[in-house]
Amino acid sequence: MRVTPRRVAICELLAASDEHPTAAMIYEELKPRFSSLSLATVYNTLDALVGLGVVNVLGHAGDDKVHYDADTEPHVNLACISCSRIIDIPSEHVTHLDSEITAASGYKLLGARVLYYGLCPDCQKKQKKATRK
Ligand SMILES: [Zn+2]
Repeated sequence: MRVTPRRVAICELLAASDEHPTAAMIYEELKPRFSSLSLATVYNTLDALVGLGVVNVLGHAGDDKVHYDADTEPHVNLACISCSRIIDIPSEHVTHLDSEITAASGYKLLGARVLYYGLCPDCQKKQKKATRK
């Protein structure tokens, strides 16, 4: 993969973010700095990073958009299907689960994706208010 300033910027943005951005979010964030940047470049770079194993694809969070995560250490992702926010939940159990799976299968594990869906506390409150009307 050729190292270009745009690709470096995409890597940096992902590494610094705990927001689990979509390609469109990354594009919007970087467009002011790189006027020639296209959404296709963002997608291609993300594909390459996923292929290199440094970025995980999380799938959608109730918004039909693919979210990306630069943290490939074992952890749990928790997605709100209402506001589409994804947060990280550190969990020792995931680490234990890795050892359990390795022992049971003999696989050399390269990565994992643990994604839970739900309604965040804010959206639960909003829903309660809406039903009270
Ligand atoms: Zn929410």
